[in-house]
Amino acid sequence: MAACGTMRKAENRMAKRQFTVCNPFAGVYHIRDALSAHMTLLVGEKAALLFDTGYGLFDPLPLLRRITPLPVTVVLTHGHHDHALGCRWFEEIYLPEGEGESYRQNAGVAVRARILQRAADAGVPLNDEQRADYLASLLPEPCTLAQQSFDLGGLHVRVWPMPGHTMGSVGLLVEERRLLLAGDNLNPVVWLFFKECTSLAEYACTMRSALYLPFSHVLCPHTDRPFGRAAVEDYVEGLRPETYLKAKTVRIEPYSDVTTCECVPTDGFKLVFDSVRAYADGSLIR
Ligand SMILES: [Zn+2]
Repeated sequence: MAACGTMRKAENRMAKRQFTVCNPFAGVYHIRDALSAHMTLLVGEKAALLFDTGYGLFDPLPLLRRITPLPVTVVLTHGHHDHALGCRWFEEIYLPEGEGESYRQNAGVAVRARILQRAADAGVPLNDEQRADYLASLLPEPCTLAQQSFDLGGLHVRVWPMPGHTMGSVGLLVEERRLLLAGDNLNPVVWLFFKECTSLAEYACTMRSALYLPFSHVLCPHTDRPFGRAAVEDYVEGLRPETYLKAKTVRIEPYSDVTTCECVPTDGFKLVFDSVRAYADGSLIR
């Protein structure tokens, strides 16, 4: 596994860069954008696939072209803005079925203005023209993701439905690399408190099912480093009512209207869910 060039102590400085690239496996580029959302570029012998597009503050195409001259198919894990707003740089993108409403709602001007404020607070250099362009640019009308696999040439990618963080979320299994890209269903902090999330019980089911896949590592959209399978197995083992019942109230801005609470399924992972909904839907019953 190749090392990532990003050092933790340089995190603030690096966050101001347009993109930071890690190359953890052959043909796999995990690209962090200026606000720390990641997209993953898979490069085979005859084609490439970009999974997610980040916040979209800067054009990723010059970077992609430096990595590969091959045609790039863009696929989203789900429709949330930190994965989808970068679609504005592409003409054609593929979105999982059921994610269209989220894709459109998350692209509104209020959301974009909030992201620009966050970028300013983080010291991301954007001039007036770039800011105006960010607020005004259109996203492409998405194509529905109907394909169940992609043959990139020496790299076979299987689409795996993963309802949880959103109902329509999908993951990808990169077969030759024994690598799972799980979208927002697996991160150091998993958010499961939106109205478009499944219940905790359904999410746990999704994650248990994913363990049937032949993967050794998982890459996540909100961290540079891959997790090994053992860590994921420990996390999934912790997805049970006994864990949820130990959750503590936590305030997540700008979602303070939701009764969010946080539990720790295993060391290194947190899961934030809506406690009122979890009681109501029976997810906390042992
Ligand atoms: Zn999300």
